[in-house]
Amino acid sequence: MALIVQKYGGSSVVNTDRIKNVAQRVAEYRRRGDQVIVVVSAMGGVTDRLISLAHDIMPVPTEREMDMLLATGEQTTIALTAMALHALNISAISLTGAQAGIETDGMHTKAKIKNITPKQVHQILDQGHVVIVAGFQGQTREGHITTLGRGGSDLTAIAIAAAVKADLCQIYTDVDGVYTTDPRIVPHAKKLDEISYDEMLELASSGAKVMQSRSVEFAKKFRVTFEVRSSLNQNPGTIVKEETANMEHIVVRGVSLDKHQAKATLIGVPDRPGVASQIFKALNEAAVNVDMIVQNVGHGTNPTTDLSFTVERTDLPKSREVIDALATEVGFTDIVTQEEMGKLSVVGVGMKSHSGIAAKLFEVLAEEEINIDMISTSEIKLSVVVSLAQGERALKAAHDAFIGWNSSPSGSGRLRKHRNGEWSLTPKPSSLSQMPSTT
Ligand code: ADP
Ligand code: ASP
Ligand code: MG
Repeated sequence: MALIVQKYGGSSVVNTDRIKNVAQRVAEYRRRGDQVIVVVSAMGGVTDRLISLAHDIMPVPTEREMDMLLATGEQTTIALTAMALHALNISAISLTGAQAGIETDGMHTKAKIKNITPKQVHQILDQGHVVIVAGFQGQTREGHITTLGRGGSDLTAIAIAAAVKADLCQIYTDVDGVYTTDPRIVPHAKKLDEISYDEMLELASSGAKVMQSRSVEFAKKFRVTFEVRSSLNQNPGTIVKEETANMEHIVVRGVSLDKHQAKATLIGVPDRPGVASQIFKALNEAAVNVDMIVQNVGHGTNPTTDLSFTVERTDLPKSREVIDALATEVGFTDIVTQEEMGKLSVVGVGMKSHSGIAAKLFEVLAEEEINIDMISTSEIKLSVVVSLAQGERALKAAHDAFIGWNSSPSGSGRLRKHRNGEWSLTPKPSSLSQMPSTT
């Protein structure tokens, strides 16, 4: 008997038929004697609809009420999922995030989990029921309902798996696992058998929405191995786990495209100490998350320079307000913004020990006549900013150059946790295909 956490995303519970399908799967595990905690998202599209209802009432709704509203999406699904299990004669009890003991800070709409007290979850499991928990939501110590940021049901599942020390954590979605890139954009993308936390984190924070990036951070911190797999078939998925020595043999694990970037350029900024600090401190105080920054070299006796940075597109109006307010104090001549930018990222732990990735990416983009606007690198990631219109073409070209068309899917199996706490796939996966040298 295993203790299993299963998370079903919006598309897996998009209508009552899909909810019945979820119940069938849960019932299979239950009938073989496993204890199951099910975490569900709102039915696909519901959260977006709730947000747009709120915006019909007022352009900037208060965040507390927004959370009160959004939490209803998941609350609908937990009740329906419990009923679908009852219809199969499986006893199940649904819990809100608060009832499941998820305590968060008070940062409405992007709250952080501070503590989990899964007392009620354990009690219900021990009484022989399936527990259905509303994803994406928690409660502050003072009793206010909060939500955990878009895609936050992933975080609920990982956090509960850590809190109850689950034997298995499965994230069910509408694709067979984590692919070398979004299979909706590149149909010949290849499903990965395994990926390290760091690679998954870099991909997730660069546009691969298959996992919420904060949930991967949490999994890494609390060493929760989890599997991303499809709710529509029985295919084995992708295991996300700690890096192992053989992972470095693959130079590029995946590529991603973030389509939500925007760029601002300040022209004629005085090139003197303290200016960058003034600008980015003000943006930080306004809770604008700046991603890439590029500054040119100043020339002459009273040098001025151009300074560009990228932000999430939704943060661009706020960034403009902040920068406009600094115009006299800082003394730049103009600000130019570009709303429609994309960020292409190439990710792999093997990049730590291989050179030539940047040269190859630049060559590929040059062949496609795609202009690179900005560049940034980390130990396991290389990102370039390009115009959004060219983003998907850039992604396909980079994918085909680094991963190729023909790499055959590697072996797969079932995830198991052993008595010594280690995890393995059975049968053992065949070795992953190796990328040709890129230098
Ligand atoms: P859920 O509703 O189950 O949480 P999401 O829509 O949030 O599902 O995430 C699944 C989607 O993520 C897929 O349908 C796919 O289009 C997209 N995706 C983006 N990048 C990747 C990737 N590298 N691998 C798999 N899916 C990806
Ligand atoms: N329903 C929320 C969203 O759409 C949370 C989730 O699906 O994970 O973002
Ligand atoms: Mg999701």
